Amino acid sequence: RKADMAMYKAKVSRGGHHVFDSDDDSHGEIRLRTLEELRLALTEGQLVLHYQPKVDLGTGVVCDVEALVRWNHPTRGLLLPDQFISIVEEAGLMHSLTQVVLNQALDQAAVWQAQGHPLTIAVNLSASSLVDIELPDRIGAMIAARGLAPSTLALEITEEFLLNDRDRARGILTRLREQGIRISVDDFGTGYSSLAYLRDLPIDELKLDQSFVFPMAENERAATLVSSAIALAHSLGLRMVAEGVETGAAYDQLVGYGCDFAQGFHLSEPVSAATLDSWLAERRRT
Ligand code: C2E
Ligand code: CA
Ligand code: CA
Ligand code: CA
Repeated sequence: RKADMAMYKAKVSRGGHHVFDSDDDSHGEIRLRTLEELRLALTEGQLVLHYQPKVDLGTGVVCDVEALVRWNHPTRGLLLPDQFISIVEEAGLMHSLTQVVLNQALDQAAVWQAQGHPLTIAVNLSASSLVDIELPDRIGAMIAARGLAPSTLALEITEEFLLNDRDRARGILTRLREQGIRISVDDFGTGYSSLAYLRDLPIDELKLDQSFVFPMAENERAATLVSSAIALAHSLGLRMVAEGVETGAAYDQLVGYGCDFAQGFHLSEPVSAATLDSWLAERRRT
């Protein structure tokens, strides 16, 4: 992907209608183009969701998936969030992206429900979405319009949203949770904030960041951190999801620690809804 970007950059600075001397300027040009294209992508349905299962480590069953956005770009192919999310954020378009993602995720949840295989869907919310006072009512209406239970939706937030207006963020989270929507703290352990928020914020789930899970097999201190984080979650009545489970050994280790859920390439990459459907059907058969 980095190579893609470098090629793209080279192409634009060679063949684009503007020629810039400095690398910085040509980078600016790419961002500008991407920004124009992004506006189109948002209105013309080029943003698609992939889904990654969260596997219950006790039973092996999948009841929950995480939605991850991709940009199906007309010429550059399928782009990952790190290639466009920061541009969305800087351009002030995060509000629209969140709206598009929530609509698609809830449409998909309604499809799974109608097919008799209901799944809960977790959607990632950027910190900038959690300053929007109208968010809880808007999401509530979107869920009701599809006849879904509010518990069908989980929202994954990172600790950084706490750096904004903590009281406002707490108010928004409380109103979401009062409706029955579940709240999950993403990238747990990497954030800037203290553990205090675990005491006074309305949350249901922690997602242990993959940077703790990767070194767990070789590194005893890393393993101790993982098992302690799981114990901490449980003592607070929260469920723990481990991210970045890439091997069977990591999976077994997490089962041993009593972790509740696992997500990662060992189980499934994020895939289209159709691919997930066949993966789930295969699992139900065996
Ligand atoms: P995240 O929420 O922490 O998502 C986990 C990332 O790890 C995903 O990358 C996923 O594909 C990847 N991953 C999953 N299993 C494994 C594994 O076993 N090994 C490794 N190495 N990676 C794994 P992705 O899809 O590129 O998303 C990156 C980030 O973009 C997400 O991190 C999230 O912060 C953000 N993002 C994704 N979709 C949305 C969205 O709809 N809205 C917002 N605001 N942000 C989003
Ligand atoms: Ca996430
Ligand atoms: Ca994460
Ligand atoms: Ca992350």
